[in-house]
Amino acid sequence: MRYFSTQGGHETDLVGAMLSGLAPDGSLYVPEELPHFDSADLPGGTVAEVGATLLAPFFEGCSLAAELESICRDALNFPIPLDVLQSDPGRISVLELFHGPTAAFKDVGARFLAAAMERALPELDPGDSRPLTILVATSGDTGGAVAAAFHRRRGIRVGVLFPRGQVSPRQQHQLTCWGDNVRSFDVEGSFDTCQAMVKAAFTNPDLNVRHRLSAANSINVGRLLPQVVYYAAASLWHQRDHGTAASFIVPAGNLGNALGCIWARAMGLPIRSIILATNANRTIPDYLATGDWQPRPSVATLASAMDVGDPSNMERLRHLVPDFAELRGAVEAYPVEDAAIRQQIAKDFERFGRTWCPHTATGFWVYDHLPAGRRERESWVVVATAHPAKFDNIVEDVIGEAVPVPAELAALLELPAASEPLAGDPAALAQAIDEWI
Ligand SMILES: *Cc1c(COP(=O)(O)O)cnc(C)c1O
Repeated sequence: MRYFSTQGGHETDLVGAMLSGLAPDGSLYVPEELPHFDSADLPGGTVAEVGATLLAPFFEGCSLAAELESICRDALNFPIPLDVLQSDPGRISVLELFHGPTAAFKDVGARFLAAAMERALPELDPGDSRPLTILVATSGDTGGAVAAAFHRRRGIRVGVLFPRGQVSPRQQHQLTCWGDNVRSFDVEGSFDTCQAMVKAAFTNPDLNVRHRLSAANSINVGRLLPQVVYYAAASLWHQRDHGTAASFIVPAGNLGNALGCIWARAMGLPIRSIILATNANRTIPDYLATGDWQPRPSVATLASAMDVGDPSNMERLRHLVPDFAELRGAVEAYPVEDAAIRQQIAKDFERFGRTWCPHTATGFWVYDHLPAGRRERESWVVVATAHPAKFDNIVEDVIGEAVPVPAELAALLELPAASEPLAGDPAALAQAIDEWI
């Protein structure tokens, strides 16, 4: 399988696309075509088993082709349950993507990318023994998932940059409790400062001669592919258990998670409607309503990991469905305000005895506001993107009681944590990399 930049100027294989992240023309890599499956030919087994079959065409012709099964077993090794909350009429299930090491769905993509990169490295340039240095700027969640996923991977080290004093205490702990091959820098500045420093490192020619630098951004195609897998697996389980194709409601920010669902349906999996739930950052709902693409600065909301005003994966969605009328028929999107997020958390705590993180709550709000009759006509799955204990400061205030912390997260919060202060200046980062042993 070849991968092309959406602007069409660059071509590579999967390993090339994973290691470079962004194409040299600044656009995103997409596979030359999406393979098509008959769901009868797919194993309805574990996520790892579905992944090994479903992703085989994407790995064809690259040095990792023979490693796919081992990558899936290594990375997709935690539960992703699909739980029925209410049966017919108006069936609703929840797909829990938050049982990984940092209790959010980004663990899936980050772990898959880490497992793949670790196996790709020795093949890449056997004469080059320098470690791969991965740099991530984070405003909270991404950095923790990447640090956890790459911790103790052979031949790879990770530098995480976060804005000092601007991440929540639990987020900071998840960024700074690793050690070994992971260094965490608390940067004097904002998230934008961190991002500018990382960008400057990638475009610094001297630094790139001395070190092998790479990124692990959420736009990396190696993070996207495993996100197709859990939608495929969930749709097969749903079909087996209920005899119908599932309709998905996906909380969306940069659109990476939802794109996995859209690709899965395009590949022939039994998926009916796909609805995006956004927070007050309504670039996508406005676009689908008006046809006018108006990226804008993000606004801060309770569902902070979805605070995106210029969702970059829209480029991949438009590449798949270039015609606007067709696109509008393929996905719907509804914005959910903060007040509605709070109300929904309280409502579902009463109704189902379940607590959602603020991101997940947008999905349940959309379910409750579907037009008359539609809840009953389709069979719905709402995607839960993070464990509510990660957002205890918001959730506990709404439900009036403590959210139990899952065992993995509790264990992680017990680990000693430390970060290194770093000036908000590209030269300081370059020096830290040069002196890294
Ligand atoms: C990143 C994130 C999202 C948004 O996912 P996208 O792929 O950016 O659309 C939603 N919820 C949580 C908890 C996240 O961490």
